Amino acid sequence: MCDHPISRRGLLAGMAVGVSSLFLPRLPGASEQAPPMSAEQAYQLLREGNARFLAGKSERPNLTAKRIEETAGQGQHPFATILSCSDSRVPVEHVFDRGIGDLFVIRVAGNVIDIDEAGTTEYGAGHLMTPLVVVMGHTQCGAVTAVVKGAQVTGNIPKLVEHIIPAVERAKAKGGTGDALILDAIKENVHQSIQTLLASSQELYHLRESGRMKIIGALYHIENGKVEWL
Ligand SMILES: [Zn+2]
Repeated sequence: MCDHPISRRGLLAGMAVGVSSLFLPRLPGASEQAPPMSAEQAYQLLREGNARFLAGKSERPNLTAKRIEETAGQGQHPFATILSCSDSRVPVEHVFDRGIGDLFVIRVAGNVIDIDEAGTTEYGAGHLMTPLVVVMGHTQCGAVTAVVKGAQVTGNIPKLVEHIIPAVERAKAKGGTGDALILDAIKENVHQSIQTLLASSQELYHLRESGRMKIIGALYHIENGKVEWL
């Protein structure tokens, strides 16, 4: 859309080599161990949590002082890595009725994948060994809508929404218009992020190919709180 003086991907790619060993120490052999639960079990926990949330019967598990103490002492063992939009109407832990140490969450406008998001997903799936990765878009996403409508964006936002353009082009090629086009673009953008993750990360590709990780798409309906699995 517009040329930025500093490429975010290029800048961070250069920095990542230097900082990764400082902040993300790799446990020896961590990724060789079997995950504590299967992708199917993790998926089931998310489905059940959203069902409770939808029914107004959230149990708000793992939010006690005991849980804080446990997770501080024993480290984190989340069962799912979730990439979602930063939209304030998509509070991920609430939506799935989970608490501290349960979900490894990445939130960025438009749930796009650039180097930071790919690296964070690798940390969740590869290092923390979450058996499930979920890319979750949502209805009425402002970032996707801005691209569909060709809205004027400024600052660093053009570089961010650049990642959404291919998804919008695919949706437009199907001939939809109005709200239907926006919804389709939002779904295409979820698939786009999954493809980008697997194309940009050999580690994630290998984890999926070897059956140690599953990656699925979801759409959160901000109108009623329901998570639709794509
Ligand atoms: Zn959004």
